Amino acid sequence: MVVATEKSNGRNISPNTIIELEKGDPVVFEKYWRKRGEECSIVIRGWEMMSYLGDAKNNVCWYMLPEVERSIRRLHHVVGNAVTHDRYIVVGTGATQLFQASVFALSPPHPSKPINVLAAAPFYSEYQDEISILRSGLYQWGGDAASYQKNEPYIEVITSPNNPDGIIRGPVVKSEAKGKLIHDLAYYWPHYTPITHQADHDLMLFTFSKCTGHAGSRFGWAVVKDIEVAKKMTKYVQLSSIGVSKETQTRVVKIIGVVCDGYQNFGSMESELFFEYSKRLLRERWQKLWAVIDESKVFSVAKYSKAVCNFTNDSSEPSPGFIWLKCEEGIEDCESYLLEKLKVRARGGKRFGVDSKYARISMIGTDDDFNEFLKRVSNAKKE
Ligand code: PMP
Repeated sequence: MVVATEKSNGRNISPNTIIELEKGDPVVFEKYWRKRGEECSIVIRGWEMMSYLGDAKNNVCWYMLPEVERSIRRLHHVVGNAVTHDRYIVVGTGATQLFQASVFALSPPHPSKPINVLAAAPFYSEYQDEISILRSGLYQWGGDAASYQKNEPYIEVITSPNNPDGIIRGPVVKSEAKGKLIHDLAYYWPHYTPITHQADHDLMLFTFSKCTGHAGSRFGWAVVKDIEVAKKMTKYVQLSSIGVSKETQTRVVKIIGVVCDGYQNFGSMESELFFEYSKRLLRERWQKLWAVIDESKVFSVAKYSKAVCNFTNDSSEPSPGFIWLKCEEGIEDCESYLLEKLKVRARGGKRFGVDSKYARISMIGTDDDFNEFLKRVSNAKKE
């Protein structure tokens, strides 16, 4: 039997080793799930889940297991971060697939020219490539939503809290033309930001990757108001992957069940609840980061304001999944500086549609990588 080992375990990182903080791999949550042990295991026998179908009675998302739909609604009910009553749930192989399904579903079917897809800079770096890769006749990348001047229909993607900078956002396009909105709420969970309201937009995307940290399962879901949009999204998933792995769906049910049981007092009372644990973990990291950044002459990070979280009943600052780092005067290319001087791999501002003075660093990697990163930042001196 191959046992997956924790990615790092108190190892000493040599000063010449490059620390990989370019991607948002959510391995920080691994420790929590390790503690929960066998409670979260699933067994799948050789003859189970062989069908393409999930729920023949579901006339929208036919490949979704009924218990998956119930779990998603239950999770939003427990957390209070989104309205799901009278809404359709569509599941996909990550929010990545669902983002593409959403753009497909919202695009006019027979356009004279492709519709523009926009997001306010700094925007999540993958949108542009996901939109452009197939050079679709239906849609094209239209760039920064804040500077959109055309009087033509558009689709605006609103990422809130935003990746890379953790800011809570709303639509920004000012155009006479009609726009459709996609709300990417991948980080609208209590560990990253105070839950101030139940989001209730036409099309909202969520991902298992950033909620519980199970990015490897490749699972996301959309909460959709309009049945025709939900059906078109389902059609896209059908044509690109004929549904979503049932093994994954079974794991989703198990993990969400363990999270929700804890809050609804059905679970074991010995373990700390998931969102409390993960919020504490991220807050501790942010506190350590502020201590170092406040002293730094090389880097700065914009401050966040406090808000009351309806879920945790406390007032706190956000603790985003990324650091949006700015290099101070004299350093023009933050990504190169980090790599060459500090041996830290980050993602530079240009990928997010802004200046190369900025770079994004993951806050959700291993403890060792994070602590080593802090050490190197605190040793960085302006030349
Ligand atoms: N949207 C945003 C804002 C993200 O940060 C990510 C993951 N980095 C995704 C979507 C994609 O998530 P998934 O792993 O579910 O494909």
